[in-house]
Amino acid sequence: MRITDVRCTMLRIPDVRPIADGTQDTLIVQVFTDAGIVGLGEAHTSPWVAKAVIEAPLSHYMARGLREILRGTDPLQIEQRWDDMYRYTQVFGRRGITLHAISAIDIALWDILGKALGKPIHALLGGARRQQLRPYASILALESAEAAVARARELVDRGFSAIKFGWSGLGHDVQRDLDTVATLRESVGTGVELMLDIGAPMERDAALRLARGLETLDVYFLEEPLAPDDVDGYAELAAAVALPIAAGEKETTRWGFKPFIDARALDIVQPDIARVGGLSEARRVADHADLNGVRVIPHCWSTDILVAATCHFLATRQTDTFLEYCLIDTPIRNDVAREPILAIDGVVRVPDGPGLGIELNLSTLERYAYTLDT
Ligand code: MG
Repeated sequence: MRITDVRCTMLRIPDVRPIADGTQDTLIVQVFTDAGIVGLGEAHTSPWVAKAVIEAPLSHYMARGLREILRGTDPLQIEQRWDDMYRYTQVFGRRGITLHAISAIDIALWDILGKALGKPIHALLGGARRQQLRPYASILALESAEAAVARARELVDRGFSAIKFGWSGLGHDVQRDLDTVATLRESVGTGVELMLDIGAPMERDAALRLARGLETLDVYFLEEPLAPDDVDGYAELAAAVALPIAAGEKETTRWGFKPFIDARALDIVQPDIARVGGLSEARRVADHADLNGVRVIPHCWSTDILVAATCHFLATRQTDTFLEYCLIDTPIRNDVAREPILAIDGVVRVPDGPGLGIELNLSTLERYAYTLDT
């Protein structure tokens, strides 16, 4: 089998706003083969920039666009394809956007392999240990404690047993955040896990005060209270509190995660499969984390392409099967797959069809496809 083409489709809702919601646009990638099999992948990043990484013409031995690297090669040799993409983009790549684009291709190659063999990706990764996953509801933080309580109650009624509030001004006022979480804890009781995702970095001393306060409120983890490159700060914070500290959604590759894992700077790493380097690299990161006693709970806040890939990954993991389940209401989040992957009664079923096990909803693609000229 040979790769014949790689096609990029940028999706974008009409009114993108500067809020912390990554489901306003995305890049969907299709890898075509001479066997007629089409692999589906996604880069969860700025679609414009990732598209350029894929479509760029050859400019140097180690500065090539991914499409040019892949054309004419065997899509079933996933390890070799990954190494080629990493190697021949070294001048501009190695981390960041290039890995986001490589992630999309890697997911698509796993989808092709599954479709070629008639097996779901989890079967190719060694076999699912479970057919269903526990989702945690992931939402943006709300204006007031009262609004947060109302939303939490609604989510618990829908069957969620864990809820994460993120971004949207969290971390600016430590006491206010602690008061909100205390009110939430009182309202939902001890049977529901609560998580807090700061997103934008705090000062180290403020992060420590917040973490110490959250410890007393039985919070499941505190996510991204510090800058994404602050390994030393995370190491100090993680050593100072028993509360699990999580981060890593903006990190790419095994080399990017290594300093955090080696220094035990994080209790939980959160690779995003559509950023870190795809399923292949997420597994390498997870292997290193496992070896060092660091937990892995992937970041997952995009279309059902990423949700499906994350489900396959989690289905094969020995421990830590929490699935981040984004409850943002945009067509890019909800309508990219013909049959959306739903959280029902506190459970998400792992897709079981060949490859990713999902099909694109072509009318969503047509409606929200975006080009330079539009
Ligand atoms: Mg986050």
